[in-house]
Amino acid sequence: MLKCPNCKCPTSVVKDSRQKKIADNIYRRRECHKCKHHYTTYEYVDSPSVKIITVDTEYAIFFGKLLEFIKNNNHLIRTM
Ligand SMILES: [Zn+2]
Repeated sequence: MLKCPNCKCPTSVVKDSRQKKIADNIYRRRECHKCKHHYTTYEYVDSPSVKIITVDTEYAIFFGKLLEFIKNNNHLIRTM
């Protein structure tokens, strides 16, 4: 569950949503239901099993690149 970085309230309202070019992230501008703090989330959806939501841009880019790498290097990964 995603929480407000300011007050940890789990409820937020999406103010703006748009596709971002960087690593297929979905950018969402949110407003906290409780303290009205504005913050941005980045979502990376690759498949039904992979969905990453973060408030940190660096992490969003990192995970995007990581998933891209995994997809392109499937032959290197052995299933446990
Ligand atoms: Zn808040």
